[in-house]
Amino acid sequence: MSKVYLTGAGPGDVELLTLKALRVIQNADVIIYDRLANPDILKEAKENCVFVYVGKEKGLHILPQDEINAVIYENSIKYENIVRLKGGDPFVFGRGGEEALYLYKKGVKFEVIPGITSAISVPAYAGIPVTHRGISPSFRVVTGHEAPDKEFSQIVWEDFKRDETIVFLMGLHNLEKISEKLISIGKSKEYPVAVISRGTTTEQKVVVGNLENITSLAQDLKSPALIVVGEVVRLREELQWFCA
Ligand code: SAH
Repeated sequence: MSKVYLTGAGPGDVELLTLKALRVIQNADVIIYDRLANPDILKEAKENCVFVYVGKEKGLHILPQDEINAVIYENSIKYENIVRLKGGDPFVFGRGGEEALYLYKKGVKFEVIPGITSAISVPAYAGIPVTHRGISPSFRVVTGHEAPDKEFSQIVWEDFKRDETIVFLMGLHNLEKISEKLISIGKSKEYPVAVISRGTTTEQKVVVGNLENITSLAQDLKSPALIVVGEVVRLREELQWFCA
């Protein structure tokens, strides 16, 4: 009986892969992987393992989600151990839930192997703890992909008035709109923001600024990148430890 392992590849640094993920990768007959998963991980696979790339780049969709689902299904008929490798954690904006539901409906056995999400680990590699006693009691992970002015946005911007850390994933191209929106709900223009590109890898770049100047400061950063908004960003001055 075949099984699909919906596996988190972690944020980039290969050593942030879990032991469980490593075990299923070493045992895989086929690995279906994304752009975000570090390709060095594939070196861990056995010699005759088949690799299928279904990555997506912004504006250049290599495969739509229903076709990715179909690829996973077809491989589950052909092979016994199928690894669906996804960047970070499969259930954090990775559409892993959709893939799991699809497999459930198709009657294919699956297992979920959580991964270290970029939402926490990328700030950590930039010396930014997402919570800190006396500074930020909570953090939110939000999609920055939706244009903030979109009519039917699911984001309730008023929620961001609290003093907590906000991590925007997929938001680099909307950085200006996000900053303007946060100022419009009452955050100070000096409120700290960091943008971290290619975090946890040797290409990591961190830019620190505030809601007013971050868009111009971060304009040369490349994706994948995430945005951290909150007083915790100031801790980087002392906690910066990782040199890319
Ligand atoms: N499932 C993934 C997130 C998928 S959404 C996870 O748990 O990490 C893709 C977004 O994640 C990117 O647009 C970017 O905002 C963020 N991201 C992923 N890897 C990153 C990295 N190494 N550095 C910075 N941001 C990253």
